[in-house]
Amino acid sequence: MKTISLSLLLSFSLSLLAAGEKRPNILYIMSDDHAAHAISAYGGRLAEVAPTPNLDRLAHEGMRFTNAFVTNSICTPSRAVIWTGKYSHNNGVYKFTGLDQSQPTLPKYMQAHGYQTGFVGKYHLHTNPVGFDHWSILPGQGSYHDTAFVEMGDEHPSGIVRQGKQTPNPGWHSSDIITKKALEWFTDIRDPEQPFFYMLHYKAPHDLWQHAHRYNDYLADVEIPEPDTLFDHGSGRSPALEQSTQEIAGRSHHTQFTAEIKAMPDSPAKRRLVYQEYMKRYLRCVKGVDDNIGKVLDYLDESGLSENTIVIYTADQGFFLGEHGLYDKRLIYEEALRVPLLARWPGQIQAGSVRNELVLNLDYPETILDLAGHPIPEDMQGRSLKPLFTGETASDWRQSFYYRYYYSHFDTPSHWGLRSQYHKLIYWDTRDEWELYDLKSDTQETNNLAENPEWSATLANLKSELRTLQRQAGDNPKDIGDHPRTGNAALDKSEADRLARVAAKKEQ
Ligand code: CA
Repeated sequence: MKTISLSLLLSFSLSLLAAGEKRPNILYIMSDDHAAHAISAYGGRLAEVAPTPNLDRLAHEGMRFTNAFVTNSICTPSRAVIWTGKYSHNNGVYKFTGLDQSQPTLPKYMQAHGYQTGFVGKYHLHTNPVGFDHWSILPGQGSYHDTAFVEMGDEHPSGIVRQGKQTPNPGWHSSDIITKKALEWFTDIRDPEQPFFYMLHYKAPHDLWQHAHRYNDYLADVEIPEPDTLFDHGSGRSPALEQSTQEIAGRSHHTQFTAEIKAMPDSPAKRRLVYQEYMKRYLRCVKGVDDNIGKVLDYLDESGLSENTIVIYTADQGFFLGEHGLYDKRLIYEEALRVPLLARWPGQIQAGSVRNELVLNLDYPETILDLAGHPIPEDMQGRSLKPLFTGETASDWRQSFYYRYYYSHFDTPSHWGLRSQYHKLIYWDTRDEWELYDLKSDTQETNNLAENPEWSATLANLKSELRTLQRQAGDNPKDIGDHPRTGNAALDKSEADRLARVAAKKEQ
C-alpha cells in the first residue's frame, strides 16, 4: 500500500514538472566557409594574430567539439544534409542544385512540434523554404555590400528563391544587416509564449571576402603566419589533385586580387603575396562575424533569453587557408573536412568542456529535434549529440565515417573515403587511385602510405571498412550525382543544361 502511494506521488510530481517545464529555445548560427582553425578557441597559428573573442566566449561558456566534420564539403549539399539528416544521395542534393522541399526537413518537424521557426541570411538551398513562420533570405550567394533580401511573401511563382522580389539595403554590409534583422526578429516578431528555433546564417567569410569598410586597417601591418604546407605540391599523392584549380596562386580565378598579382607567374614569391592578401581579406570577414555574434550574445543576456536558449555555432564546411597551397573546400583533407562546432546551454552543458568524438553535420538535425523533445525520425542517418552535450560517456560512439564529394566546379575530381580517429582513406573513383594517411604521425597529410608495403594490411582493413560504411549509408558507387532530385522543373532543367555544357566542353 505504501509503495503504491509513493509511486502515485512520484508520478504526480513528474507530471507537474512536465507541465511547468519550459522547452529550450534553439539559436542555430552558421557561417559560410568558416574554418575551425580561424577561431582562436581552436588554437593554431592564427589564434594570436586574429582572435575571435565572441566565438571564444561560446567555447568558454559551453562546449567545443574538436572533431566535427561534414559528409560532403561543399555549401548547398552540406546545408541539405543539415536540413534532412541524410547523406547527399538520399536527400537528392549532390551538388548546387536545390532541395526538394516535399521531403521531411528539420524546420518542418520543429514547426509542427510547436516551435516558432525563423530564418535569416545565406540560405543557398535554392527552392523556396518550407517550415518557417518567418524568413528573410539572400538571393543565391547574395552580395556583401548593399545586401538585398527576398522577404517571405515576395516569392516568385517559379519556386526559386533568387527569382523572388529583392529588397535592397543600401549602405549595409551583409554581416551587419543579417544581425540587425535577427535582432528585429527577436524584438518584433518572436512570440514569447512559444519556444523558438531560429537559424541565423552569415554569408561571410565566403569568397570573394569583401569585409565591412571599418575593417580596412585591421591586420594591415600584420604578417600572417604561413602554414607549414604552403609550398606543398602534392608529391606522393594522386595526380588527381593537379586537376583542381584550388591552388591559391596558380590557375585560381578568385585569388588574382590585383592586376599586379595576376600578371605574376606562379612562384614562391607570388604564393606568399597572394596568401597574405587572401588571409587578410578572409580574417576581416571573420572579424565582422565575430563582432556581430557578440551583439547577438549581448542581446540574449540583456533580454534574459540566455538562460533557456541553446546556442549552436558551426559552418557549412571547413576551408583551406593556404594549407597544401590551397584555398576553398571540397576535398576530404582535414582543413576542409573539419568544421567548428560550439554549443552553449546554461545548466546543462558544462562551461569550458571539450569533446573529441567524431561528430558530423549529419548529426545536427537529430540533435536539435532531441533537444526540443521531438522523437528522432527513423530515416535520419546521424545521431543525436544531446548525450555528449550533457556529459554522458559514449562508449559506443562511431569510430569512423563515410564521406563523398561529387564533381562540380573548380575541376576538383570526385572522390569518397573514410576518416577514423587515426586514419584517412581516400578513393579517387575516376582514376582508381588511393591515398592513405596515418593521422597520428602525419596530421598535415603529406605522406601518402597507400603504396607502402608496411601499410598493406591496414590499407586492406580500411578498404573493407569503407565498403561497409558505403553500404550502411545506402550509397551506390555508380550514382555519380547527375540525377539530382530538386522537386522543381526549372531547377532540373538548368542542371540538365549545365551538364550538357560540361559534356560538350569535354568533347571539344
Ligand atoms: Ca560554404
